[in-house]
Amino acid sequence: MMDTLIVNIGQLLTMEGDGPVKGEQMKTLPLMEQAAIGIKDGRVAWIGSNAETKTISAKHIIDAEGKLVTPGLVDPHTHLVFAGSREHELPLKQQGVPYLEILKRGGGILSTVRATRAASEEELYEKARVHLDRMLSYGVTAVEAKSGYGLDEETEWKQLRVAKRLHQTHPVEVVSTFLGAHAIPTEHQNHPDDFLQQMVDFMDVIKQEQLAEFADIFCETGVFTVEQSRLFLQKAKEKGFAVKIHADEIDSLGGTELAVEVGAVSADHLVGASSAGIYQLAHSNTIAVLLPGTSFYLGKGKYANARQMIDEGAAVALATDFNPGSSPTENLQFIMTLAALYLRMTSEEIWHAVTVNAAYAVNRGQDAGRIMIGRKADIVLWDAPNYMYVPYHYGINHVRMVLKEGKVVSERGKGDVSVS
Ligand SMILES: [Zn+2]
Repeated sequence: MMDTLIVNIGQLLTMEGDGPVKGEQMKTLPLMEQAAIGIKDGRVAWIGSNAETKTISAKHIIDAEGKLVTPGLVDPHTHLVFAGSREHELPLKQQGVPYLEILKRGGGILSTVRATRAASEEELYEKARVHLDRMLSYGVTAVEAKSGYGLDEETEWKQLRVAKRLHQTHPVEVVSTFLGAHAIPTEHQNHPDDFLQQMVDFMDVIKQEQLAEFADIFCETGVFTVEQSRLFLQKAKEKGFAVKIHADEIDSLGGTELAVEVGAVSADHLVGASSAGIYQLAHSNTIAVLLPGTSFYLGKGKYANARQMIDEGAAVALATDFNPGSSPTENLQFIMTLAALYLRMTSEEIWHAVTVNAAYAVNRGQDAGRIMIGRKADIVLWDAPNYMYVPYHYGINHVRMVLKEGKVVSERGKGDVSVS
């Protein structure tokens, strides 16, 4: 007896396979037609043809209405927890003021830092919960959340505690990353190395309280150099953290090469990645996490070279980069459309990039991103006839229902299911 049986699935993307999906392999989608899924104790217990379901009994039956069913999406790069918003920067962008200039004037990250320092833990939690509910409604069942709007111990700790509490209370799995090295705070403008050391020292507390499993740094002109980033990430690894890098987002500094050198789980952004960097990335285990929403919103028309990455054999993932400055959106489906249009990724590649490869980018490859027997039943039922339809029909939400560990946690038209 199954707990739940999902019947009448027109197209089922199982994403079945082993390990991250690299290069050429991203062109083929493991899928079944006229399929069904059996769920027991929160896990996938059976996958077969719809015709076979006549002989299987279940407590609940969900009719997929002949439409698309996929694994829960994974958003592997977000800045989920912060206070305030930055709509007042939109006119500056329209006037062509570059981001690094806005940062220099005390805007950008630093204005969010001021707001986040001033907010209570409860305020941060309530705001982040709303964003997380919205991500879930768009089909996301696991998300990475970075700190980095504190840039002091007290506020970074506050942000990480909020992420941990969300992980414990919300249906969406939250993977936490310590991004204390997100920017140089005003009070440390003239001695960034002392600030980095302060953040390195603070990692001991984070480790002790199990507040983050990843450490990350913003390696960029005017923020942290490749040398500073190398030292920071090496120390993070020594303290037992897996590492990620904001690499080559604006300028080509060699952050991509550094990611490979230090064995980062993911290298993120990569808009300015050099050919040599892409070659090294393609021959490594580091996942390329691309954030076309940020390129789109910065409006400079410059996007990461996904084609070269995939053609040379890299495993590519996609994320929203949800944050109040350069990518204020929780909508990973919109990112899929941007990937199709501006990264020139095929629909098949895009689905790998938001499921299995995204799961590997947050060290959840064994658990999320695939529908296979024995795995957690994190499943999305779409109001779409096939997988190509989702990136094609853009800007709206195609999700009908989301299951997390076999339980319906979000359903169109049923407001608060996600927090029940
Ligand atoms: Zn980021």
